[in-house]
Amino acid sequence: KITVKEIEAWLEAFREEITAHKEELSDLDQAIGDGDHGINMARGVKEMHNLLETKSFQVPGEILKAVSMVFIGKIGGAAGPLYGSAFMKMAAEAGTKEALSAEEFLGVLRAGKSAIVQRGKAETGEKTMVDVWLPLLKKFEGKQEIDWDDWENSAEELKNNTKEMHAKKGRAAYLGARSVGHIDPGATSSYYLFKALADTLR
Ligand code: ADP
Ligand code: MG
Ligand code: MG
Repeated sequence: KITVKEIEAWLEAFREEITAHKEELSDLDQAIGDGDHGINMARGVKEMHNLLETKSFQVPGEILKAVSMVFIGKIGGAAGPLYGSAFMKMAAEAGTKEALSAEEFLGVLRAGKSAIVQRGKAETGEKTMVDVWLPLLKKFEGKQEIDWDDWENSAEELKNNTKEMHAKKGRAAYLGARSVGHIDPGATSSYYLFKALADTLR
């Protein structure tokens, strides 16, 4: 069962991953964008941490909603509104339930994925965070039990697969074919989000 406690632990684990990999994320963005993805994400998770320290939450939907506002307000760039709307839709899907089954929680994540697709209009293969979110959730759709090692490995493979893609969305699209050969920064921060989840729930 996933309650507010598991959600908090997941988000804290995500903060640790982003903080530890801030430079990696900015270096990836330096190659095909403007080099700020690590800074953007680190600013967002730091503010999220302050929020989690000062406020207490009753249900998963409440914490997801509060975090969505922080991400929209603090991450900035293209990624801020995308992560922000993902968490906003996840909050709506979680509603006021106190505990979510694995299956229900996958539904919450799928709602987040839909928000990213709706907002950014990217399809798979266009070298964005969608290339992790969409196929990962598709792979685990309908599963009642999740093999978290498989989950983490799948997410990692999916973000690595963006390396050979030709960017069609976001800043990297300006590079055209020159974007090939570099892993997408947003796909990488999304990998850390899903790795943090596996580390929390396995
Ligand atoms: P910016 O490009 O504004 O500096 P960031 O560097 O923080 O923003 O984020 C860049 C990441 O955002 C990209 O690596 C990509 O994964 C993601 N991204 C950009 N545009 C889109 C889009 N239309 N749909 C999905 N993801 C996108
Ligand atoms: Mg950038
Ligand atoms: Mg930027």
